[in-house]
Amino acid sequence: MESMKAVRLIQPGRPLELQEVKLPAPGARDVLLRVKVAGICHSDAHYRAGKSVVRPLPLTLGHEVAGVVERAGAEVTNFKAGDRVCLHYLASCGECVYCQRGNEQFCTSGAMMGKYRDGGYAEFIVMPARSVFRLPEEIPFEQGAIMMCSSATSLHALNKARLRAGESVAAFGAGGLGLSAIQLARAFGAREVFAVDIAPGKLAMAHGFGAVPVNAAACDPVAEIARLTGGRGVDVALELIGLPLTMRQAVQSLAIKGRAALAGLTDKTFEIAPYMEVLNKEAEIIGVSDHLAQELSGLIEWVRQGKLDLSRIITRTVPLDADAINEVLDGLAKFGQEGRAVVVNAE
Ligand SMILES: [Zn+2]
Ligand SMILES: [Zn+2]
Repeated sequence: MESMKAVRLIQPGRPLELQEVKLPAPGARDVLLRVKVAGICHSDAHYRAGKSVVRPLPLTLGHEVAGVVERAGAEVTNFKAGDRVCLHYLASCGECVYCQRGNEQFCTSGAMMGKYRDGGYAEFIVMPARSVFRLPEEIPFEQGAIMMCSSATSLHALNKARLRAGESVAAFGAGGLGLSAIQLARAFGAREVFAVDIAPGKLAMAHGFGAVPVNAAACDPVAEIARLTGGRGVDVALELIGLPLTMRQAVQSLAIKGRAALAGLTDKTFEIAPYMEVLNKEAEIIGVSDHLAQELSGLIEWVRQGKLDLSRIITRTVPLDADAINEVLDGLAKFGQEGRAVVVNAE
């Protein structure tokens, strides 16, 4: 077979299109993967709308991928045809100063699949073997795909916030990131986890995963968290939405020595009152960018053990078809993420 189907961004602001493209060939250190499942992410709606740079165009979107090794390059010794795997979405060099220090999210030549190189809305994909992770039999491809984006970033946020057992957590945003963060926080041994959102459906899901729902449409979440913690505030606040308002609320919800980890994207500024909200409490505001390859093995193990259950989060499957994917992206653009949809390739 010399060609394959791929659903691609041709021009920002236009629907994705199905194209017949050349089958990619793996280099010596690459793996050619037969895609089984690709997650449809809220980011893809931004990419399609032209809110983030995607290049070179046309480009196959899809950065949450699980599948089976079709062929490994000549120098790849740890994978063989038939292996079940999932992908770290960043193709990194492994050699620059950032990669050497285990901070490959800042790799000087790093390229995210589905954004700067062809992604997983296709029958096949090529990635460097260092971005390929074994997927245990117990984890379905659907979960293997979606855990490599939002769940991994939620884990990185909790690691950056240095969450310890017995501490309290507030997650601002109970979408894809939040529902993973809530479960991971509990797996870390968090004493109580608050989920702040305005969507009743998301709050209900968060409640189902053991969080105390805080409906910000009906109350001031800062005052409510203060009330629920006896005036103390939370040890860790995660901002997973990307709004100045919720960033401010995350900082204001902190207890003494609290840490606010900001993972939601925005280019707007937000206000803080330095003395009362940060200095006086020795609070910390921490930036979170993507996640690290070295965190993924632990994440995969938590999913394998069922401590992170993503089965209820996947609410819809669609075929590798441009109309179907565009329709899901339309919904994400309008209503945000409530449950996840994935592309499942035909056998
Ligand atoms: Zn994603
Ligand atoms: Zn590098």
